Amino acid sequence: MSTGQSITSELHAFFKGNIVPLSEAKVNVMTHALHYGTGVFEGIRGNWNEEEGAVNIFRLREHYERLLRGCKLLMLDIPYSIDQLCDITVELVAKNRHNHDIYIRPLAYKSAELVANLKLQDLESDFTLITVPFGNYLGSDTLRCCTSSWRRVDDPMIPARLKISGIYVNSILAKTEATMAGFDEAIILNHDGHVCEGSGENLFMIANGKIHTSSLEDNVLPGITRETIIQLAQSELGVEVVERTIDRSELYLADEIFLTGTAAHLTPVIELDNRPIGDGTSGDISTRLQKMYFDIVVGNNPKYKHWCTSVTPT
Ligand code: PMP
Repeated sequence: MSTGQSITSELHAFFKGNIVPLSEAKVNVMTHALHYGTGVFEGIRGNWNEEEGAVNIFRLREHYERLLRGCKLLMLDIPYSIDQLCDITVELVAKNRHNHDIYIRPLAYKSAELVANLKLQDLESDFTLITVPFGNYLGSDTLRCCTSSWRRVDDPMIPARLKISGIYVNSILAKTEATMAGFDEAIILNHDGHVCEGSGENLFMIANGKIHTSSLEDNVLPGITRETIIQLAQSELGVEVVERTIDRSELYLADEIFLTGTAAHLTPVIELDNRPIGDGTSGDISTRLQKMYFDIVVGNNPKYKHWCTSVTPT
């Protein structure tokens, strides 16, 4: 993932229980997670608020709740509670003196230096955390997408509901195929051929005055932005949100489509497989939700300020 800016030599990381210079946070080539993808990670955004002189970290706790669910599944035994993980994050963000938008990447991983062993129960685990400057992830304000020829992993193969490192080869194949074909993002179908999500975003579609999004049982990641947008659409716009199985052909006929994710924020899809969505511009509901969401994540909406953890550079 591009950081938007080069990583400076002054950054620190949390590594093996301490905050150390990023240049010293290095693992051995024998590390289990490096070979097998046996880790779970999070992607969290900190949004710089110039007036406050603070970085607002969005829904920090919820990200660590999802990380710890992943740890349970992958038998990653890390010695930190959610409160401790939040405290470590705030400490590192302050230490790195960020005065710009940032991406926060926690990773719990099988740190055992033991390669030919496929038994999770035998392997020791560790937790690391980095924070880096981060700009516009998708590189465009509106998206031209294609349907991927790759299918999303299915729960009986690898649970798609968690951010397991190894799963991301699936997303990476889809994203690479789409961008090499000149599109901004891939829309991935699940094993049954139903609409799943983008390579790193959940999908929403507007049709018949309602908002529709793929149900969690269709192998989508339970996105924190997805959950946020469902709440906002219902309570602030009064628009009904339906979580259900969506067919591919419904997307071509939709009035609006948008993708949501921590990195992507809320970004409208204006074209899919070379067909315009709606009138081929950002739709009304997408634009209203996008503006509302953005105000909230930078910490400018007092009603939702409790979702933001403010950190002032020390
Ligand atoms: N789907 C996938 C596959 C993702 O990687 C992400 C990014 N975490 C999302 C959806 C969106 O999730 P969130 O809103 O929690 O960032």
